[in-house]
Amino acid sequence: MTTAAQTANSATQWVYEFGGGSADGAAHMKDLLGGKGANLAEMSALGLPVPPGFTITTEACNHYYANDRRHPEGLRAQVNEALAKIQSLTGKVFGDTRNPLLVSVRSGARASMPGMMDTVLNLGLNDRTVEGLAELAGDRRFAFDSYRRFIQMYSNVVLGLDHHLFEEILDDRKDALGVTVDTALSADDWADVVAAYKAEVSNELGRPFPQDPQEQLWGAICAVFDSWMNDRAKFYRQLHDIPEAWGTAVNIQSMVFGNMGDTSATGVAFTRNPSTGEPRLYGEFLINAQGEDVVAGIRTPQSLTRIAREEMGETTPSMEEAMPEVFGQFSDIVARLERHYRDMQDIEFTVERGRLFMLQTRAGKRTAKAALKIAVDMARDNLISTDEAVLRVDPSSLDQLLHPTIDPSAERKVIATGLPASPGAATGKIVFTAAAAEREGAVEAVILVREETSPEDIRGMDAARGVITARGGMTSHAAVVARGMGRPCVSGAGELTISADAGEMRARGRVWKAGDVVTIDGSTGEIIDGAVAMIEPELSGDFGVLMRWADAVRRLKVRANAETPLDARTARQFGAEGIGLVRTEHMFFDDVRIAAVREMILADDEAGRRAPLVRILPMQRGDFVQLFTIMDGYPVTFRLLDPPLHEFLPHDADEVAAVARSTGLDADKLLRRAAELRESNPMLGHRGCRLGISYPEIYEMQVRAIIEAACEVAASGQTAPHPEIMHPLVSKAEEMAFLRSLTDRVARQVMAERGQTIAYSVGAMIELPRAALRAGDLADSAEFFSFGTNDLTQTTFGISRDDASRFLNAYLAKGIFEKDPFVSIDIGGVGELVRLGAERARAVRPDVKLGICGEHGGDPASIAFCEDVGLDYVSCSAYRVPIARLAAAHAALQGKRAFAD
Ligand code: PEP
Ligand code: MG
Repeated sequence: MTTAAQTANSATQWVYEFGGGSADGAAHMKDLLGGKGANLAEMSALGLPVPPGFTITTEACNHYYANDRRHPEGLRAQVNEALAKIQSLTGKVFGDTRNPLLVSVRSGARASMPGMMDTVLNLGLNDRTVEGLAELAGDRRFAFDSYRRFIQMYSNVVLGLDHHLFEEILDDRKDALGVTVDTALSADDWADVVAAYKAEVSNELGRPFPQDPQEQLWGAICAVFDSWMNDRAKFYRQLHDIPEAWGTAVNIQSMVFGNMGDTSATGVAFTRNPSTGEPRLYGEFLINAQGEDVVAGIRTPQSLTRIAREEMGETTPSMEEAMPEVFGQFSDIVARLERHYRDMQDIEFTVERGRLFMLQTRAGKRTAKAALKIAVDMARDNLISTDEAVLRVDPSSLDQLLHPTIDPSAERKVIATGLPASPGAATGKIVFTAAAAEREGAVEAVILVREETSPEDIRGMDAARGVITARGGMTSHAAVVARGMGRPCVSGAGELTISADAGEMRARGRVWKAGDVVTIDGSTGEIIDGAVAMIEPELSGDFGVLMRWADAVRRLKVRANAETPLDARTARQFGAEGIGLVRTEHMFFDDVRIAAVREMILADDEAGRRAPLVRILPMQRGDFVQLFTIMDGYPVTFRLLDPPLHEFLPHDADEVAAVARSTGLDADKLLRRAAELRESNPMLGHRGCRLGISYPEIYEMQVRAIIEAACEVAASGQTAPHPEIMHPLVSKAEEMAFLRSLTDRVARQVMAERGQTIAYSVGAMIELPRAALRAGDLADSAEFFSFGTNDLTQTTFGISRDDASRFLNAYLAKGIFEKDPFVSIDIGGVGELVRLGAERARAVRPDVKLGICGEHGGDPASIAFCEDVGLDYVSCSAYRVPIARLAAAHAALQGKRAFAD
């Protein structure tokens, strides 16, 4: 019986064809066809030489997972139809013994996930079609080499057998023949290897290697779908915020061969340099090789252009020199692709006996530095608008640009040099395995040193500060993944001999062991002995230009959370437009001050507290004068004393004795008092404005310090500061009214004493659900609010900020939280309170100033939310200010686009 759902399924188009100058799909259909499939369709429709093929949609993948790994009705028939179309376009027949069609089967998700999922090449070969291929190609050696590659790949990807089984067989065969390189094997040798591989498969699995091409094809399709859920892919998705629900498409395409002799080749190219953004064709190719050889780092590839070859000092000819005609055609096509897509392209191609085929094009992954240069260059060339240039740079990626680099004047004891695969510099202790990097990288800086990396290593790469490999080019796994992660990387450092088993690395006659410190410069490719002095990043040039374009379109202001002069200066350099949060208690932890603060806290009456407060006042005033001076007229928000008192209590008898000595108080009494002050739930205890209400003299001192500092700065002829005085952890209108009158009383008193007038504002942090709900009441006495989303997240979820890590990973792994709610705002709950609070505050006080100063103020997704709610500013740590500026611009532009739609 056919159900309604099945009828709908069989009517659904699960397969999209491309080739022969036309295509069912197009570049904009990435959601359905994946990036690779959509772009193959686009290139086909542009009339470029694309081997014909078809794409099975991501919807088919999602159906597969929603239905116990069963394919939708209608898929088989559509695949057969599409295969027939490839046959008619190529004149070859799938499974035919004389004229066999071979296909590649590749994954292709909406977002590229390099190396995370599976691929099978040369599918369709069996004991009979291999003879047909030999005949067709006039090259028996090539045919059997292709067949053994297919058996190895298929057995690994589809049948789940380890690569090593096959590598051992090949190594044994080479030993027996007394040869070291694959090229020394004859056709008969490869035929023997094939026989041995097949015997191994039978032996391991108890059944023969599948000979039926249809069975091979469906095995590979399922394997690609299955690879969407492998551990590597899951981890990569988590790292890059790729939803599981997207699914992967499968691309099935007729094979072309780059390994058919010296007029054949395969390669990868970027239309601009992906590390620096330099507008010059950039890439690598290998003569007589198959695609995987380039990325796998097994052979060292050659440059595409003569200039690049000369610069790299290579002796083997570039593609431009080795195949000038094909190169001419290729460079025309890639230039056309870049203009067509209006973005830097990452391209894969193959030359089969002098004939060029385009296998893939996509927007190329690039370092933040390259992204910036490419965006600015393209806008200057009028290829894209300045708004688009702003949108082309991912705000989070700016982190890479803000990384330190090696001080050029520092001495560099270079151990070895490899390729400058991912920029920035890093110092750390050597580890030789990804597992060690994960383990030790959690506690100290480590550099992961590997012969080459593979997708299994990505967790270790993420945990390491930098990565070194001895093999592999600029497009090797290590290079591509490290660039995506923003980790400095030196790849292909061939001088290194790495022995992970022995835990040592050798170069130039010296040995380094695990734990020895090295520094890498991912911008020059140097590996340096020991630690080297670093310098802060340059924030002018293209960075400055793009940030100006971003500033011109953003609505949200960006401030910094800062309390030290150093933080405040850094914040200004990074373009902060004020300080959104001075955590005044952070200034108390200095050795001299903490004694006075402890004395104040341990005092059991007001008089006992006032004496140390008199000593603290000038220190605070001095700090505030510095902040006002650095901020030069920009607003500064002072959050009055907030933390639970226990943070300041002496922890042990020694500390109590020190307080007793400095104050002349009785140590036993102090100990008793400390015990009295301990709370069982300090985060919800005597903290925030509750301190100011129970001990008003503390807040009075702080308000006095702020207004006196402002008077002093104004009197010195500098721009008059506008202090914003902020009360933490407020929840009731009555609290706010009390704090307001305390603030105004002291401020008026100081101004009267000084004979000066200072414009100041009084406001509150919204850190409790009640404060958000009753923001209208609070607004009677508060002129501004800052959403303290760290505490608001803690108090909304009832999850302790300090203890969340114990179970948060389990929540993330189980998908209960998509993201850590302390990093990216929980829009549905905490966000709802922010939205309500903002609405209710505005209803009472339309000109109320609204900001956010929790960690979320530096998180691009949360910033987009703040734009949506219409907050006035975000405030974040100094180093995130550029990220916030760019994210605010993205949010404004995206809001504008949504409005235009
Ligand atoms: C907050 O709670 O969001 C906040 C900024 O304050 P703190 O992190 O100091 O508690
Ligand atoms: Mg707080």
